[in-house]
Amino acid sequence: MVGAIGAFVGWALGAFWLGMALVFALELARQLLNLFQFEDWLRNRNRRNPPDGSGLWGELVSQVSRLHRRKQFHKQRILALFRELRRSTASMPDGVVALNQAREIVWFNRKAAELLGLKRKTDFGLSLAGLLRVPEFTRYLQKGDFTRGVVVPPRVGESIALEFQGVPYGEGQVFLLVRDVTRQIQLERMRKDFVANASHELRSPLTVIAGYLETLALDSELPSELRPPLEEMRRQSERMTAIISDLLELSRLEASDEQVEGATIDITALMAVLRKDILAREGMIHSIDVRIESPENLRGDLGLIQSAFWNLLDNAVKYSPGGGTIVLRWWVDKQGGHFTVTDQGPGIPAEHLPRLTERFYRVDKGRARHMGGSGLGLAIVRHVLQRHGAELMISSEEGRGSTFACHFPVTRLISSTVANP
Ligand code: ADP
Repeated sequence: MVGAIGAFVGWALGAFWLGMALVFALELARQLLNLFQFEDWLRNRNRRNPPDGSGLWGELVSQVSRLHRRKQFHKQRILALFRELRRSTASMPDGVVALNQAREIVWFNRKAAELLGLKRKTDFGLSLAGLLRVPEFTRYLQKGDFTRGVVVPPRVGESIALEFQGVPYGEGQVFLLVRDVTRQIQLERMRKDFVANASHELRSPLTVIAGYLETLALDSELPSELRPPLEEMRRQSERMTAIISDLLELSRLEASDEQVEGATIDITALMAVLRKDILAREGMIHSIDVRIESPENLRGDLGLIQSAFWNLLDNAVKYSPGGGTIVLRWWVDKQGGHFTVTDQGPGIPAEHLPRLTERFYRVDKGRARHMGGSGLGLAIVRHVLQRHGAELMISSEEGRGSTFACHFPVTRLISSTVANP
């Protein structure tokens, strides 16, 4: 088309090539002008209307306009979504902090800023553990086991206790939920104090009653019809004394979550004492089989560990009234040290196993009370083990017997050559 116009102009001017050159130059100038307008609009397309144009340029402008509109639409949608998300996390009652793989702060909501004293601009990119400087929390983040949360007592200059719960996501990133648990901790402390004080207060009057009952029982002039009730009263006062002394022991154990350091416990000697003491009991019909399969010893508090192991052995005897062999076993493997007590008693139905270490939980309430137990023995065992970083596991098969296992971490083991150089 342009060539034809050029040829015509050339013919009209009488100079063919001059006409052609002139028309092509004009066409080039027009295209350049279009290109310039197009580029100018692209640069300022938010403020300018698209240039008028037909043909190829018009098509190009409308294509770009459409793409631009679509992009604007998605951008607005994402922005609205983001604002919505920010508004909803800001109104959450819990604090949320997003951490990257290096455990640096990527983002946090308003509540987290309030609870942790974070400042929006300056604290992004900083290490949260470094900011808080609480050893329990640093260990929690380093360990990376987020199945449970961690409670951090009030920090220096602060009055609130916090609970952190990590939620891993993506590739090594973590969402940290932060809650103010000051009230729960206060209530828990009040409950513990109450139990400790009540037990303490009850102990003295009970000692007096038990003392009189003892004296009365020894009185030879006591009418014979009074003997059975008096004997029963004496037995019950003994039970109450046992319950109160167990409650006090539990309160002492609960007073701190700190791990006990302790010293080397000679496992062979401890097993020998347990065996001797239980066999010395009146009316013992069980045989005790001690199996020490590893030479390693345990690091812990001898008094606490002895009372925990004794509790398990005492239960094994109490709850297998038909007799049989009770096996005490100690061995060490890659996971740590293990102490187990296995009896050949009637066993425990599976549904009771998860609740057995709760205070006053008994499988057969009537029978267990009759046996004289306080119902606190296994709760005490669990606490003693917790203070040693250890765990109590119970397995049982009805009709065949039960095994109570204490699993100690490797860090609690002491090789016998070090213990007895
Ligand atoms: P208790 O003072 O009643 O013995 P524990 O806390 O020591 O309290 O034990 C809780 C309950 O667990 C017991 O009442 C009993 O029902 C059950 N139990 C504990 N050890 C055994 C065992 N070796 N075999 C069967 N049942 C057991």
